[in-house]
Amino acid sequence: MESRLHISGDTHDVFNQASPFSNRNLYDNDIPLRELLSPKIGTIASRLSELGKTLSQPEWIKKGFQANENTPVFHSHNRFGQRTDTIEFHPAYHELMALAITNEIHAYPWTHPNEKHRHFVRMGMFYMHSQNEAGTGCPISMTFACIPAISKTPKIAKEWLPRILGNQYDPNNMVFSEKKGLTIGMAMTEKQGGTDVRANTTQAVDMGNGCYELTGHKWFCSAPMSDAFLTLAQTDEGLTCFLVPRWKPDGTKNNIHIQRIKNKLGNKSNASAEIEYRKAFAEILGEKGRGVPTIIEMVGLTRYDCMIGSSALMRRAVSEVIHHISQRKVMGRLLLEQPLMQNVVADMCLESEAALVMTARAAQCLESEDDIAEQLLMRLLMPVGKYWICKRAMQLAGEAMECWGGNGYVEESILPRIYREVPVNSIWEGSGNVQCLDILRALGKHPDILAVFFSEMDKAKGMNSIFDKYLRKLKIEIPHTLHQPFLARRLAEQLAKGFQAAQLLLADKSLVADAFCEARLKHQGLQFGNLPDGIFTEKIIQRHHMG
Ligand SMILES: Cc1cc2nc3c(=O)[nH]c(=O)nc-3n(C[C@H](O)[C@H](O)[C@H](O)COP(=O)(O)OP(=O)(O)OC[C@H]3O[C@@H](n4cnc5c(N)ncnc54)[C@H](O)[C@@H]3O)c2cc1C
Repeated sequence: MESRLHISGDTHDVFNQASPFSNRNLYDNDIPLRELLSPKIGTIASRLSELGKTLSQPEWIKKGFQANENTPVFHSHNRFGQRTDTIEFHPAYHELMALAITNEIHAYPWTHPNEKHRHFVRMGMFYMHSQNEAGTGCPISMTFACIPAISKTPKIAKEWLPRILGNQYDPNNMVFSEKKGLTIGMAMTEKQGGTDVRANTTQAVDMGNGCYELTGHKWFCSAPMSDAFLTLAQTDEGLTCFLVPRWKPDGTKNNIHIQRIKNKLGNKSNASAEIEYRKAFAEILGEKGRGVPTIIEMVGLTRYDCMIGSSALMRRAVSEVIHHISQRKVMGRLLLEQPLMQNVVADMCLESEAALVMTARAAQCLESEDDIAEQLLMRLLMPVGKYWICKRAMQLAGEAMECWGGNGYVEESILPRIYREVPVNSIWEGSGNVQCLDILRALGKHPDILAVFFSEMDKAKGMNSIFDKYLRKLKIEIPHTLHQPFLARRLAEQLAKGFQAAQLLLADKSLVADAFCEARLKHQGLQFGNLPDGIFTEKIIQRHHMG
């Protein structure tokens, strides 16, 4: 009798469950994003709106799930015993990659060099794409970020850039010259040191014809199906940057052996491999012995992308939470209307928007290549932003699951995926401490950098008394911490919160900016939901509600 009832499904009505979050255009319905970008990017907004619509559709949301549930499979050999070193991805992964590349998320600022707000356009697209599926962001980001390094060597740039910058996704495993589109990876980290790349032991032997052979291992090499890897290896003149193609120019397979792919906490759709170079063919990028300066710009841009990626994941979590609490009743009342939940969620909204404006300010710096002050600002903003936004995303992702209650802990919601995804942005491309130490390095190396950072914050002076007080105190305190690694996290946090407050004030969003100043510069609770009395929580939540 019991099983018959189950089969017929007529034991109970299902009610008080939220609908799936879909068909909310990730551009049109996102007020903070739209307000930030639309005045700048003009008619190109329609392009973002189109992408935002696509990504919001249930079939594209499903592809994100499929790509993560059907993780990449490594094939070392074919059935004839020949080494192949291939990675098999679910079709959804390829579709997500194709969507990103046809929209030029990997290339837009480079293919539209004369467009004033090219980095804003790309930031907006990457922000939306990462909300749906973050794993594809890794190869997209590395491909975007490799351009300055590859451009340093005209011969290689001439051969490779046209296909890297094109908008065709081509997953075929063949020599680069026969492909319609190329993606690029990065192989720096070795077993004995990731942060300390100078400890790399991979050796490069000069073949005397302008080419080198590399022998060694790389402990983390993400997106190992990429068409080439920017690699650091030792030469007689020290650490040097090389381009190591997957196939040699003569059309034979290069000697790159994938050992295995890592079983990771999250970032499941993306393959991260351990690889060995066994006399692998390579060409020098940049100057011999100047490997770190050559690759550093790529690293910088991927760090910036971590800011976008973590801001995006926070945005998605917040959108899902607001959608849920707008429909879910507990004790007969919508969660959205319950004061304590309002406090928690409005606080998360503040964090999400603060991350967005900070990231957008970084995009603006990138657009001013010839402006020394902007470049100095970016030099400091990058480690400050990467550290802080990636850290905050981890806390926010956990809280978002809790807002959903039990359903939030279950894989069918996107929240566990986000929760598992966020730590990677904090770890790779230089982990938290490394970013904080980089802040000290930047401050030590460029005497003007602090003045530039403060002059940016000074623009917001007089707009909020809490901010003014915080800034005054910061200016007194900071010089005492400049040479103290022990205090570097504290320094990073102080700079980040002050900078975010300034950007919110400058964006003229007093609703959010004043609340942020109260919550982050004055009261400073450790958990979300610590907003003091008098904050317009309902209005803040409404602003972030995707409809
Ligand atoms: C999923 C994933 C994918 C990756 N993909 C790639 C890739 O494609 N290519 C690539 O080259 N690398 C890749 N990495 C490697 C990643 O960049 C490194 O793991 C990271 O830079 C840290 O290096 P490590 O693991 O050697 O840790 P370590 O260098 O041993 O650092 C360990 C910890 O010590 C801290 N630390 C370091 N120095 C100091 C100090 N002086 N004072 C205080 N604390 C310090 C660090 O912040 C870190 O928290 C990937 C990593 C992950 C997790």
